[in-house]
Amino acid sequence: MDIFEYADELEFGELHFQVDPDIDLRAVVAIHSLERGPAIGGCRFIEYDSTDEAARDVMRLAQGMTYKAALSKLPHGGAKSVLIKPSDHELSDEQRESMLRTFGQFIDDLDGQYITAEDSGTSVEDMNIIHEETDHVLGYGTEQGGSGDPSPYTAVGIRRGIEAAAQYVYGCDELDGLTVAIQGVGHVGYHLAKELHERDAELIVADVDREAVGQCVEEFGAEAVAPEAIFDIDCDVFSPCALGAILNDETIPRLTCDIVAGSANNQLGASRHDAMLRDHGITYAPDYLINAGGLIYVAAFYAGHDTDRASQQIEAIYETLLEIFERADTESRPTGRVTNQIAEERLEAI
Ligand code: NAD
Repeated sequence: MDIFEYADELEFGELHFQVDPDIDLRAVVAIHSLERGPAIGGCRFIEYDSTDEAARDVMRLAQGMTYKAALSKLPHGGAKSVLIKPSDHELSDEQRESMLRTFGQFIDDLDGQYITAEDSGTSVEDMNIIHEETDHVLGYGTEQGGSGDPSPYTAVGIRRGIEAAAQYVYGCDELDGLTVAIQGVGHVGYHLAKELHERDAELIVADVDREAVGQCVEEFGAEAVAPEAIFDIDCDVFSPCALGAILNDETIPRLTCDIVAGSANNQLGASRHDAMLRDHGITYAPDYLINAGGLIYVAAFYAGHDTDRASQQIEAIYETLLEIFERADTESRPTGRVTNQIAEERLEAI
């Protein structure tokens, strides 16, 4: 499908490209919607096989941010950006910094319609550099007057999602005695493991990064398994906190859990996979509802609200998810579809 046809299908929006061959910079900013307000969305700095693949990825993610902001009733549209990481050579610190600076100037030219933050492959330190070039960035360091890393807030929302799902499935939201298998213990996965360990859940973790796994084994007594084995683990909750599209025809039949609840964006390989999870007797907590904690936190920072207000809103993910489970039950529909409908109703109500 042609990129403009794809944009049409996703009901876009704007696409902005930036290239600077001197510093190997290839960046795409996708602004899906500005109807609810300026669009907040993270910046990925990862490798792609082609510019086309990067553009499609960023467009799909930007559409997801529109839905996420609407569902969480935030006064923001949806956007995302990518910096395409060169795959043929390692970047020096200087090269990376000059890319981030040029990208920061690019964002500044968009006059605040797009506000960036960290995402896969970017960090608080990267946001500090971007902040030296533009005010339209969130998630930079607290020493610089910023909000800091939003991942701990995302993890709280995921934990609330797991508690709500446990209440729905087992009639009790205490986590002690539950076994949770976490795929990916990076920024969110690590903080989620901490939240769950503090509530006496048993943890099984997998990551391609051995150091990240080792930290969870040491600090939280987690059991480590190989990345490819995580789908076959006997557990109560499977929590995808790494990649998108990991719930698909191949992986769903391997799952033995009762609940899927994690932070990864776009977990379903295709929209029909939420029905497939339901048919397998698995309760699915829709990703963009329970992973909204980080967005809620940075949006509160942007609006000048205090952290308490954001925390209350993140806690409320529990009630919203229970309502979605009940509505899905009453209407005999998968949870993902019910969640999309609520987000679409909120978008239409503008
Ligand atoms: P991250 O890059 O810090 O962590 C991802 C982890 O997954 C890394 O440790 C990586 O090594 C691991 N990983 C990669 N491939 C893997 C594989 N095949 N098997 C197991 N582990 C693998 O990213 P993050 O910020 O923790 O985000 C995780 C997911 O949550 C992403 O999909 C992101 O888009 C989503 N998300 C993050 C936030 C946030 O606040 N950071 C908010 C909403 C959604």
